[in-house]
Amino acid sequence: MAKVVLVLYPDPVSGYPPVYARDSVPVLHGYPGGQTLPSPSSIDFTPGELVGCVSGALGLRKFLEDGGHQLVVTSDKDGPDSEFERELPDADIVISQPFWPAYLTAERIAKAPKLKLAITAGIGSDHVDLDAAIARGITVAEETYSNSISVAEHAVMQILALVRNFVPSHQWATNGGWNIADCVERAYDLEGFDVGVMAAGRIGQAVLRRLVPFDVNLHYTDTRRLPSEVEQELNVTFHPDVASLVRAVDVVSIHAPLHPQTYHLFDEKLLASMRRGSYIVNTARAEICVRDAIVAALESGQLAGYAGDVWYPQPPPADHPWRTMPNNAMTPHISGSTLSAQARYAAGTREILEDWFAGRPIREEYLIVDGGKLAGTGAASYTTGSDS
Ligand code: NDP
Repeated sequence: MAKVVLVLYPDPVSGYPPVYARDSVPVLHGYPGGQTLPSPSSIDFTPGELVGCVSGALGLRKFLEDGGHQLVVTSDKDGPDSEFERELPDADIVISQPFWPAYLTAERIAKAPKLKLAITAGIGSDHVDLDAAIARGITVAEETYSNSISVAEHAVMQILALVRNFVPSHQWATNGGWNIADCVERAYDLEGFDVGVMAAGRIGQAVLRRLVPFDVNLHYTDTRRLPSEVEQELNVTFHPDVASLVRAVDVVSIHAPLHPQTYHLFDEKLLASMRRGSYIVNTARAEICVRDAIVAALESGQLAGYAGDVWYPQPPPADHPWRTMPNNAMTPHISGSTLSAQARYAAGTREILEDWFAGRPIREEYLIVDGGKLAGTGAASYTTGSDS
């Protein structure tokens, strides 16, 4: 029997919701490209419930406890005195979400001799030291595609929020004002802009597809070029590297994983090479950008706006400069944790656990590290320290 440590974000400050804004979430029948939805034997929650917080426990409590496993659920994850660190020494399985990541550093992995499986409930396993997981033979898995469209929708929303100057205009409305000139002095139409995605994987491609009707000029870069029929269908221009992409666009939306090749890619030099007044939306990972270079570029006007939902660390301190930098439309890390997405990644987590306990292989597309090496989606999208 396994000890499972589940690290989740805290319940709402107003308490676990007694009722939801809507009565259901739409039923999907598959992901774009044909990947099938999570397929656990059953689930013990109603899709649309808040399962990503501590009381929701990803809907796993009954399944795990009926199976005789020990379940610890906590949001206390940071520092040596945290409950997470206290529970690590005899944990077999750790599960956490990128929105509230339980950072599995090499030091913490060394303190967890029994740890065999680290599941990311969602997408993006950079909060796990993958080199250390490889060295220790720990399997790392995530639910590929579970929230890709959720993130793509958020990215498009934030592009529009920046370009149309939504956030300050909303504040004028709620504050009782009617200051049209103040609202529109930074507002533009997106139509006609050059808009690029840095990485055209599942999310990046979904962003491109959603932007087609806006009559913008689309651009992308990726380590792998899209099939020519997809490039033609989307009328999108390929750039061989990020330096070429950012020089050619007014808006760049970042959708690459965080790994050695993308760490601090958006530094002072790259930002200086962009068109003055460019916008960046980053729903991938904060550390793809140099924190203070973004602040300086906004303050100088080199960037007209920055938005996204990813920060480092998470949660960020109260004085993190991205909370107050000019012309930002930041949100906490929420894009991939809508109630719709939670239902999918909670079911995917259950599917992974069912396979693991039954000794069946985990779906290839869910694997990041397995058998002492990058595997499945991990082998396609990540690099290890030795690749950098
Ligand atoms: P995918 O694996 O489908 O796509 C990632 C793409 O990035 C791949 O096409 C990959 O190319 C490309 N890539 C990797 N490294 C580079 C590089 N150095 N330069 C250019 N392209 C590169 O992932 P998703 O689209 O599903 O997710 C992307 C990221 O979004 C996740 O890793 C995660 O960090 C973040 N995310 C954020 C969420 C949120 O809530 N904000 C939720 C979900 C994900 P190749 O295959 O050739 O390596």
